[in-house]
Amino acid sequence: MIEQAQPSTGFDQLLHFTLPDRDARGRVVRLGPVLDTILSAHSYPAPIRCILAEALVVTALLGSLLKDQGSQMTVQAQTKGGVIDLLVCDYRDGEVRGYVRHDRARLDELGPTPSLFALFGEGYLAITFDLAATGQRYQGVVPLEGNSLAEACESYFFQSEQVRTLIRVGLHNTPSGCVAGGMLLQHLPEGEEGRERLHVQLDHPEWEHVSILGRSVKDEELVDPALDLETVVWRLFHEEPEIRIEGGPILTRGCRCTITHYQDILSRFAPADREDMKNDDGLIIVDCAFCSREFEIDL
Ligand SMILES: [Zn+2]
Repeated sequence: MIEQAQPSTGFDQLLHFTLPDRDARGRVVRLGPVLDTILSAHSYPAPIRCILAEALVVTALLGSLLKDQGSQMTVQAQTKGGVIDLLVCDYRDGEVRGYVRHDRARLDELGPTPSLFALFGEGYLAITFDLAATGQRYQGVVPLEGNSLAEACESYFFQSEQVRTLIRVGLHNTPSGCVAGGMLLQHLPEGEEGRERLHVQLDHPEWEHVSILGRSVKDEELVDPALDLETVVWRLFHEEPEIRIEGGPILTRGCRCTITHYQDILSRFAPADREDMKNDDGLIIVDCAFCSREFEIDL
């Protein structure tokens, strides 16, 4: 039996699915115009564009696990001495944004396809869920190990939440822009709200089965615009007794950088500090790392 509601065929929309008989839930997403908008704010070299595209797909997938309006999910990868010293992406109410801080000269020495370790060295990945309804914050930090950010996120879920998780990301560069797609698959034998997972059975046969199917997804399937996301899910799980598919949020590129926002932040500084920040015209220049825009703040 297949249940479908609000099917998604386009870019920049999430699709939620569940496999009730396997206690599994999933998300699929394909980023197009949103990704181009975010990347075009910077003149990043190819390896940085790729890692940011991967991070944004992961951000959309993880962010879509939030339930309440106003909640936020932040992915932050940080290193000491890595070629990339900081990568930040976040998600709130369907809005995604992100940027990367890196050493261009050292990056150029790494060649066109540097490994995760070459980019970050001994780094770590912090994933933070800020829940609007309760004001609670959950943060987990895992070493940036493995072959990809997606792999590091899988270990976050395993270590911090004891939830078995599979994350796949595919990237495709075209002359008209970059397309990136991804899938997240999770096993929740205790249900969505189950927090008592310390004794979860790690070799659960349901998860073994579902994850083998999930692992068979090809990068090309995740990024091929001719293949809608329902079809991707259907191809993987069509032999399951039941698949529920539901349209998720439309994604946009969002940023909180407004003059009012910066005025608010600057108002918390001591008056003497604010005076020091002013330029010859009496303005404070602030730039947003996410969108590379510069703001002249007149207090
Ligand atoms: Zn901004």
